[in-house]
Amino acid sequence: MFLIAGISPKTKILDNNPRLCPVCGLARAYFKRVDHYFNLFFIPILRVKKGQPFIMCDNCERNIHDFGMGDNLWRGKKSLRCRNCGRTLHKEFKFCPYCGKQI
Ligand SMILES: [Zn+2]
Ligand SMILES: [Zn+2]
Repeated sequence: MFLIAGISPKTKILDNNPRLCPVCGLARAYFKRVDHYFNLFFIPILRVKKGQPFIMCDNCERNIHDFGMGDNLWRGKKSLRCRNCGRTLHKEFKFCPYCGKQI
């Protein structure tokens, strides 16, 4: 008999309410987290690694983690600032992911 075991990622949606995607402007972005689970016979048994929460849009599948919402690549470079909440935003953003205002 083979023992089928391994580690595999599992995506968890942390939000119940979709937020506006800053890129496409649709309310399809959710806070998600990818946790890694130890699986036995394809059943997750134990969480071995808790991922960092990130926002990902179901529509355009942009992972806002790529843009870097925290310490990031583009901070200090030419970037936008939300006129409503004052946070620094990626220049591709059309909407502020923090407060939902159009830029
Ligand atoms: Zn989107
Ligand atoms: Zn804002």
